[in-house]
Amino acid sequence: APRIVIVGGVATGMSAAARARRLDESAEILVLERGEHVSFAGCGLPYHVGGEIASADTLLVHTPATLAASLNLDVRTRHDVVGLDADARTVRVRTPDGERTIAYDALVLAPGARAVRPPLPGIDSPRVRTLRTVPDAVTLRSWVDGAARRAVVLGAGFIGLEAAEQLAAAGLEVAVVERTDHVLPPLEGELAALVTAELDRLGIAVHDGASATAIEPGDGSDVVVLDDGTRLDADLVVLSVGVRPDTAVFAAAGVATDDGAIVVDEHGRTNLPHVWAGGDAVVSTDAVTGVRRPVALAGPANRAGRQIADAILRPATARPIPAAVGTAIVRVGRLAAGMTGANRTALAAAGIAHHTLHLHPAQHAGWFPGATQVHLLLHFDDGGRILGAQAVGADGVDKRLDVLATAIRGGLGVEDLIDLDLAYAPPFGAAKDPVNLAGMAAANVLDGTLRPWHAADLDAVLASSLVLDVRTEAELATGHLPGILHVPHTELRARLDEVRAVAAGRPVAVLCQSGVRSNLAHRILRQAGFEASSLSGGMLTLRATL
Ligand code: FAD
Repeated sequence: APRIVIVGGVATGMSAAARARRLDESAEILVLERGEHVSFAGCGLPYHVGGEIASADTLLVHTPATLAASLNLDVRTRHDVVGLDADARTVRVRTPDGERTIAYDALVLAPGARAVRPPLPGIDSPRVRTLRTVPDAVTLRSWVDGAARRAVVLGAGFIGLEAAEQLAAAGLEVAVVERTDHVLPPLEGELAALVTAELDRLGIAVHDGASATAIEPGDGSDVVVLDDGTRLDADLVVLSVGVRPDTAVFAAAGVATDDGAIVVDEHGRTNLPHVWAGGDAVVSTDAVTGVRRPVALAGPANRAGRQIADAILRPATARPIPAAVGTAIVRVGRLAAGMTGANRTALAAAGIAHHTLHLHPAQHAGWFPGATQVHLLLHFDDGGRILGAQAVGADGVDKRLDVLATAIRGGLGVEDLIDLDLAYAPPFGAAKDPVNLAGMAAANVLDGTLRPWHAADLDAVLASSLVLDVRTEAELATGHLPGILHVPHTELRARLDEVRAVAAGRPVAVLCQSGVRSNLAHRILRQAGFEASSLSGGMLTLRATL
């Protein structure tokens, strides 16, 4: 019977172990985990900090004893793998009882990633914590339950915002510091602005475009000093500025890495014979851009573990691990925000030309009680390939992202989105679902029916075009651009001569609140011989862009 040794006992490692057992009752399966716990719900850690998950035990999905009983796994916690000898096929392990050498027939490296600790003065303050393990969450929870009143979260990525939301819900005064110019850096700025507004509503102070330069010990608390001079008092600091593959031990032993991430083929094989790797520690290929980079997400990690077990035990039929689509979502107060596929930055870096559209449809029939907007963005190319999608809203965000993630994985184009038969009754969706609408709008762009203009081009448009605002008088009173002509869309057909006179040969850039009425208006104008375009996402997107 083969002996399969697995390093790391959480997402990838435990998925590999469980699948290996289901495939081979005779295999000897050892899981070596540095920490105190295996198979814990890392993604649930922030929710214990705030108390939404009351007991830390809820996060311990399995223990070595339950894993021995149900899967006959030999799970050893507090076993830190500190060396690898690929020729001898052994690993060196630091255990509570001293160092040991363990032999393997197949070795699976699933060490995950470590939280980045920037070399700031004061970073080693005991009040600065990362959030990677159950003990991390338990410690933070005890401080929240105790005397802590003010928290600073460094890094406004997915984990940082989950932590901030939870700390605020627990009654702390919370500040979030983000180095880039907006929270949730993978999200486009115009959607992230909605998240910032929600953080504001939750009473969380956002310091974007700012970096911490030092953490100074204060009187009973610390002071986080920012490069813009701001000083933030903190009884606790959550450090969530990114992760790095935890691979030094293996790289030193000859495992090929790229910028610290283990290089693997589509079956998780490393450069060394009998050694596989997966999860946060390895390089993935981006499904949209083809760029090679590590992807730190739980779904791909769990599935890679399962597929590595297949590659070891049934290599002839093992399916390749697919390229990474990179679908992620976060809850922030009343909102959900998420993305799938590539964003603008990734597309630009890869030199992929693309169109972008913004839509704000209701998550279900607008006339059904409880309708709220799904703020949706779609990147696609000239051939109709879906490159990426993002969504923010109070309801229905997750299902639109999942449909779009499925479309990207399945290679569907924007026209296919029009044809998707999605579940509809008034409480759930719309007869034209937001995803169908996104497909229709994109197809209209590709065949020229819809000519969008974009908030990012505002200065050029103001300089060259007549801006025609087709909203109602009441909407106009909430604010409008300078130098506009105001003609409500219902009056446009009767007032074309007036528009022609004011435009005086200039193109007409139409706008409304969300882009629906301006689309109609620009169609009226173009059929009347105007050169007209419609603001993508309307004033909603424009306001979020400014
Ligand atoms: P891990 O699950 O991190 O497991 C690696 C294990 O290996 C660790 O327990 C480590 O102690 C152990 N180890 C490392 N080196 C050694 C060694 N030398 N010897 C022995 N043991 C070793 N992803 C999502 O998709 N959605 C979410 O909502 C989400 N939320 C998250 C929230 C938090 C707070 C965190 C920290 C992560 C979250 N993630 C989320 C990311 C997700 O948890 C990871 O992508 C996933 O766990 C990676 O799996 P992995 O097996 O590669 O690594």
